[in-house]
Amino acid sequence: SGKAPSHPFPDWAAGTPTPYAALVKTFTLAEGTTKRLEKLSHASLFLRQVLRLTPDDLLMVIHLMINKLAADYEGVELGIGESLLMKAIGESCGRSMAMIREDQNEIGDLGMVAMKSRNKQGTLFKPKPLTVKSVHQGLLEIATVKGEGGQGRKVAGIKKLLAAARGDEAKYLVRGLEGKLRTGLAENTVIVALSQAGIVHEMEQKGQKASVSMLTEAELKLRSVFSELPSYEVIIPAMMKYGLMGLKDHCKLQPGVPLKPMLAKPTKSISEVLDRFENKRFTCEYKYDGERAQIHFVSPDSSISYPATSISATTSSTKGITKIFSRSSEDLSKKYPDILSVLDKWVKPGVESFVLDCEAVAWDKEEKRVLPFQQLMTRKRKDVKIEDVKVKVCVFAFDLLFLNGKSLCQETLEERRRLMHESFTEIEGEFTFATYADANDLEQIQVFLEESVKASCEGLMVKMLDGEESGYEPSKRSRNWLKVKKDYLAGVGDSLDLVVVGAYYGRGKRTGGYGAFLLACYNPSSQNYETMCKIGTGFSEENLEEFYKLLSELEIEKPKPYYLHDSGNKLQPDVWFEPKIVWEVKTADLSISPIYKAAAGMADDTGKGRGISLRFPRFIRVRDDKSADDATTSSQVAEMYKRQEVVTSGSKKGGKGV
Ligand code: ATP
Repeated sequence: SGKAPSHPFPDWAAGTPTPYAALVKTFTLAEGTTKRLEKLSHASLFLRQVLRLTPDDLLMVIHLMINKLAADYEGVELGIGESLLMKAIGESCGRSMAMIREDQNEIGDLGMVAMKSRNKQGTLFKPKPLTVKSVHQGLLEIATVKGEGGQGRKVAGIKKLLAAARGDEAKYLVRGLEGKLRTGLAENTVIVALSQAGIVHEMEQKGQKASVSMLTEAELKLRSVFSELPSYEVIIPAMMKYGLMGLKDHCKLQPGVPLKPMLAKPTKSISEVLDRFENKRFTCEYKYDGERAQIHFVSPDSSISYPATSISATTSSTKGITKIFSRSSEDLSKKYPDILSVLDKWVKPGVESFVLDCEAVAWDKEEKRVLPFQQLMTRKRKDVKIEDVKVKVCVFAFDLLFLNGKSLCQETLEERRRLMHESFTEIEGEFTFATYADANDLEQIQVFLEESVKASCEGLMVKMLDGEESGYEPSKRSRNWLKVKKDYLAGVGDSLDLVVVGAYYGRGKRTGGYGAFLLACYNPSSQNYETMCKIGTGFSEENLEEFYKLLSELEIEKPKPYYLHDSGNKLQPDVWFEPKIVWEVKTADLSISPIYKAAAGMADDTGKGRGISLRFPRFIRVRDDKSADDATTSSQVAEMYKRQEVVTSGSKKGGKGV
């Protein structure tokens, strides 16, 4: 009939700006249910409405739904500190800092505090209602303020938004500014919602209905496009222009848009590797211990131009690209100008564009060998000047994902490797192909592993070499890539990367600083940080001093409402932190815990929903290259626990309990 379905959002006239209130209504509905399918249907219904009424707002709507203002590589970050937010809330409502603090202590959710403060204010003069566009712009200004008086301008920006907020809007504005909306709408769900809304809308315009199989197909198509090209800036306009079903022809891996790297599964032993790859062709490569680096290049003379990938029109020209991206798609170009400046020496003539997957490793020029990861971490992260570089870096390339205008993700590893060796020239200490051996029995692999360790590597990466399973799988932790670290073989097991969420004051020699810390893993589906262990071992005195300086700046009054933690036990930390810092830790083993919440209920088969903890955790190093959301996930934790159970054939079942 063409009649719009009933929906719960405030309506707006076609062609007029999408009211922020309508988006917030969707947030409230999504937050109000624990069922993923219901969250999905609220989101998709709302997106349909946007497509029908104000399609130009769709890109901003999607970004606000996942609480981002732009693609990761643009480096625009929310995550305003709690004290600054409290100040802005107080000033915007004419309440003292003490009152806000008191509320925060009682409620523990700054979003709710903001809403309560607004509601107390009564009906004063109200500025114009917020729109999706005005909120996006406002947040963008706040996030990108720089230079002198920056803090003051941030506060002013926040106050301006809060002053115009009605109803639940203040709650989500503040939560968004803080960095977590807590609607339970994970990015994965939003992508599915977008695919559904898109296909339903397309069919509606043709006067038809989308069938269930079309919905499924649209979802698969959008997911696969997104994994090669994680940029809504490119995908959404293309979706409007070509429709969802034709999207794949227009949206492929493109230099300038980093893809989420393919990840490996840990293995306990070489025989486990052999079991997995039985009767397959596979290859072993050195596993270098540095920082993942995805290098993107397009020659300025290239005949192909790529769609704009940026929110700011000024940087939309994509002729000529040389960029390096991190594991989490951060732009590292300002960290490694020394790499970029010599890049043309390794590129052979005829190579116009490429995306290389590499490891950047600290390099000892005199000894001509790689240096430990710790050396690399002493490099500045931003605005590095080539002449000041002390720690030299060598790039070890292990995969080629794009060459001369064409994505290679679907090709076999053997073919990608062949093209890589054909297209680049090695230069000692600057650019080298990862050392590999097509070893295939236990003894050969053992020997190769020992050689890798002698060459200061962490162990081996073992990869499927040909056949369909050897394609590059962006963002997947795949069983087609296995990591064998020397430590596993010593029985130590894989390390974990955990978020520092709290600390305990030190005693004795450690008085005056923190003596131990509370760590958490991340659960991407609930978007909570789940506490996992207390750690006080492995730190040098310098470490502790440095961490005190860094972390005391991040202290907050109360645990965040998205910290999953048992507040009823004796192990409460003395202070809590913003979730920003990630540490790599090792452990003797994992055990079921009555106290900690990590992976609660995922591995404990007694039905008591107990979590998993680490026994004898030890600090290894800071993981600057990981953000809090890149920490080890709850399901990885559960998997690690279960694997260890298998290995110890059940003898540790249940563990001792920490
Ligand atoms: P993960 O990336 O699996 O979450 P992580 O960041 O702690 O964990 P590791 O477990 O050490 O990393 O192993 C994977 C990383 O090893 C890759 O992300 C990459 O940076 C690095 N690496 C070094 N050499 C290679 C290689 N030959 N092939 C693939 N990756 C390699």
